[in-house]
Amino acid sequence: MTGAVVIVGAGQAGFQVAASLRQRGHQGPVTLAGDEPGLPYQRPPLSKEVLAGAAAPETTALRPEAFFAKHDIALRSGQQVVGVDRDRRTVTLSSGAALDYDHLVLATGARPRALPKPGADLDGVLALRTLDDAVAIRDRVTADTRVVVIGAGFIGLEVAAGARKRGAEVTVLEVAPRVMGRALSAPSAAHLVGRHERAGASIRTGARIGRIADDGHGRAAGVVLAGGELLHADLVIVGVGVAPATDVAEQAGLPVDDGVLVDATLRTEDPHIWAIGDCCRFPLPSGQHVRLESVQNATDQARAVAAAITGGPAPYDAVPWFWTDQHDAKLQIAGLLDGHDRTVLRGDPDGDGHSVFCYAGERLVAVESINRPRDHLAARKLLAASFSPRAEDVADDAVDLRELLAVTAPAPPSAAT
Ligand SMILES: Cc1cc2nc3c(=O)[nH]c(=O)nc-3n(C[C@H](O)[C@H](O)[C@H](O)COP(=O)(O)OP(=O)(O)OC[C@H]3O[C@@H](n4cnc5c(N)ncnc54)[C@H](O)[C@@H]3O)c2cc1C
Repeated sequence: MTGAVVIVGAGQAGFQVAASLRQRGHQGPVTLAGDEPGLPYQRPPLSKEVLAGAAAPETTALRPEAFFAKHDIALRSGQQVVGVDRDRRTVTLSSGAALDYDHLVLATGARPRALPKPGADLDGVLALRTLDDAVAIRDRVTADTRVVVIGAGFIGLEVAAGARKRGAEVTVLEVAPRVMGRALSAPSAAHLVGRHERAGASIRTGARIGRIADDGHGRAAGVVLAGGELLHADLVIVGVGVAPATDVAEQAGLPVDDGVLVDATLRTEDPHIWAIGDCCRFPLPSGQHVRLESVQNATDQARAVAAAITGGPAPYDAVPWFWTDQHDAKLQIAGLLDGHDRTVLRGDPDGDGHSVFCYAGERLVAVESINRPRDHLAARKLLAASFSPRAEDVADDAVDLRELLAVTAPAPPSAAT
């Protein structure tokens, strides 16, 4: 456990690999190189507390500066990795410094996709990925601001909720027939839309963007729909998804296809290079290849790679989960929705909280819980055990899901054998 580890990207995943390596007793040099300034920070509060003005930007730091010195993690902030020499096993930083590695971990995350429309580069058209982005948006949103959000994904909707909390007039435009079409079941999406509308936002689906209107001074004046309608705006937030940051991997000659391609142990085709978090595409135990964008995925993959470096590679098979906060709804999703063909409701959507269980045939694939943390935790256990409860049990709120698992699931193999 003495090899040199260089981590590219000091975000959620990169930070966690460094911390986990030290936790597991790794004694070799650990360098965490990130192109953003300052300490590694978490992104979820950016579109929630920071945007709403409820938390200061510095509270998002993952650890104080002293942590890095204490654990002998060489944090190189504000330094981009600009080259990898796989034969010599060195990386080059933008400062010109070269670092040798035995293990290289790519944790480069993702970047917002640009809106491919005229006017997308006007002043007042912003995206949200970084702490600086969040502060810039927060500072521009007041009770007098008219905000148009383009894209009703999780981040777009969180920004919409945050802007409404600050009293702004908010319109959300989504080109698809419904919000979060790929990420959320129809009942949950409709439920969230209701919450946004009750909070005063206008959500328009099937809205095709023509261009961003210029006020004549290089500032955005509004959004012009494909049909010609102008929606006035002081601020336009573009939330049309992200693209994985794969430039370092591509420069290194590693295979990339909507993410750095890795095997089930999160290793690239080069045995000395790993890729984790938003930037990587990996195989699930089912064989399906996915790229996930969540804190759980970033941190669990980071822990898995730290374990592989200090012990030995093992297949990564954590159950994916995600959360989002919008108005007074905490939505937690366990599993992946792909391929579901029916939903079963548990609890009362008009009451304190409820869950939507999503099945592909008889197989439970995902559970969406709104203000129901107990259901969410039980769902993660059910999915980890590949156990699909019967619809009638799920629909009956009196049935304890965890007990159901304990009673019905096969006993684990005996340790004595
Ligand atoms: C506003 C917002 C809200 C979110 N809310 C939630 C939520 O509620 N729940 C949830 O589960 N997930 C949420 N997410 C997603 C979650 O934050 C990401 O999935 C997670 O940050 C991914 O971690 P990562 O380390 O892979 O990437 P990142 O955190 O993006 O870190 C990658 C880092 O690498 C740096 N980098 C890239 N290229 C180089 C290079 N060549 N050299 C040096 N550094 C480089 C990048 O600048 C970045 O700092 C949210 C994301 C955003 C933007």
